[in-house]
Amino acid sequence: TNQATTHEFQAETKRLLDIVINSLYTERDIFIRELISNSSDALEKMRHESLTKEDVFDAHVPLEVSIDLDEEKHTMTITDTGIGMTRAELETNLGTIAHSGSGKFVAELAEAARKDVNLIGQFGVGFYAAFMAGSKVTVQSRSWDGSEGNEWVSEGAGSFTISEKPGLHRGTKIIIELKDDAHDYDKKWKVEGIIKQYSTFVPFPIKLEGETVNTVQAIWTRNKSEITDEEYNDFYKFVGNAFDEPHYRLHFSVDAPLAINAVLFAPKENFEAMGFGRVDPGVNLYCQKVLIDQHSENILPEWLRFLKGVVDSEDLPLNISRQALQDNALVMKLRKVITKRFLKFLAEEAKRDSEYYLDFWNTFGIYLKEGVTSDFEFQKELAQLVRFESSRSEDGKPTSLAEYVERMAEGQEEIYYINGPSRAAIEAGPYVEMFKKKNIEIVYTMEPIDDFVLNHLGEFEGKKLVSADRADLDLSKSGDDTDSDEETAEKLSSGDSSDLLTWLKKTLEDKVAEVIESKRLVDSPAMIVNPDGYMTSSMERIMAASRM
Ligand code: ADP
Ligand code: MG
Repeated sequence: TNQATTHEFQAETKRLLDIVINSLYTERDIFIRELISNSSDALEKMRHESLTKEDVFDAHVPLEVSIDLDEEKHTMTITDTGIGMTRAELETNLGTIAHSGSGKFVAELAEAARKDVNLIGQFGVGFYAAFMAGSKVTVQSRSWDGSEGNEWVSEGAGSFTISEKPGLHRGTKIIIELKDDAHDYDKKWKVEGIIKQYSTFVPFPIKLEGETVNTVQAIWTRNKSEITDEEYNDFYKFVGNAFDEPHYRLHFSVDAPLAINAVLFAPKENFEAMGFGRVDPGVNLYCQKVLIDQHSENILPEWLRFLKGVVDSEDLPLNISRQALQDNALVMKLRKVITKRFLKFLAEEAKRDSEYYLDFWNTFGIYLKEGVTSDFEFQKELAQLVRFESSRSEDGKPTSLAEYVERMAEGQEEIYYINGPSRAAIEAGPYVEMFKKKNIEIVYTMEPIDDFVLNHLGEFEGKKLVSADRADLDLSKSGDDTDSDEETAEKLSSGDSSDLLTWLKKTLEDKVAEVIESKRLVDSPAMIVNPDGYMTSSMERIMAASRM
């Protein structure tokens, strides 16, 4: 149709609009960032299309964003020459929330808005942020396919209209009629400050009243020595939608075996742990500064989804589709090289400043553990990075497996570990008695996932990882005290001892597989051990719980 039509916003969109309009006014500035970022996305898509397609409407128009202000009418107009939207696209893109699980998204957003509006930036409220400052928003858009342009209009209250608008250039123009208490946004100094704060790294010219206000050179292609910490941190805030500063930063360039320019950041906070649901991958994939895959699921393994940044490789074919990225051999090779490089960087950092690394480990260790249990490919590297407490580590200061091995006495062939809810609980239990007596270090695994991690690793530098609750554990050849001391203790006669075993076995019935005399106990009368050595008791508890 080319008639004006009226449409209801989807229910989730109405809730989102309600939050945006009523709760987020202290964070108003971000609406400019959101709209510029949409323009930038549309321009990136246009740049990509124009490299590979012939028929582009308005092909000569330069790729840029323009912002114009009217202090009399109190309006802000943001125009881009990007990919534009067809009528159908206007209706769905600006009427619904594209996000998968949008209901959950809006619920989490509402919760964050209640707790701390500073967190809102992490969500990317998107286009609807326009209603933070606007009482009425008009979107005029014409798609790169050359079909006739259309105009979308809404006051944010439940519905919007779409009507045909002839004579538009390619791209999108958003006209915001500012609310009475938002007239600041028609002042150049105000808007310029916000663009500099949030949008410096947008890779297209942003023209404010005709003047370019950003520098458009991609930071990852620049020489490391010429980039200041401040520039890196600003770039982190830009790519990561972040407000804080990164914990780690790695900028590297290689030419062989593949040409790669990458800037990767590890944040300070773990948003998943704060209860915000699973985070999207935070690294964007470029080829010669053209965005190929935003929030790429392919360029890094899933367990590195907490990283932010960009990877640019000129070896990638520019016209590769997102689907083709998934099983592209080159992308897989890139992923391997970049992951190894990042893990090597972490190992170097851990050596350089172990305290600072522990801060990182405490926040993001859970992801590296996920890596060990889900990805065989990087186990060797990850084994160097895991940290656990042990009988020799200070409370709260976990140790590495390499340090454990260094401390091992001659003759010890295995690395031992035992799971328990806390240091105190483990140390009070029977499993560690013989270790204490023989002065053998034992790793304390205190998270449910830990035993799976060590089980997956299997060994470290040729030393088997062995859970101390195994029935066949034999410490007779290890430790300080190798000759067993049978001297002093009053022993049961072998007859009494076998009577006791028979009685115990009968009393416990099929709750146990076997009752045997232990050579390991020092002070405790009995302990439960694991017959097969395949799963530790802690793993069995988890499996049992997950079956319920
Ligand atoms: P997101 O950017 O996360 O997809 P938004 O709410 O910001 O979510 O935007 C929704 C969709 O509307 C975008 O995905 C895009 O398809 C479309 N869109 C928004 N602004 C523009 C624009 N300036 N040009 C072209 N499409 C746009
Ligand atoms: Mg957006």
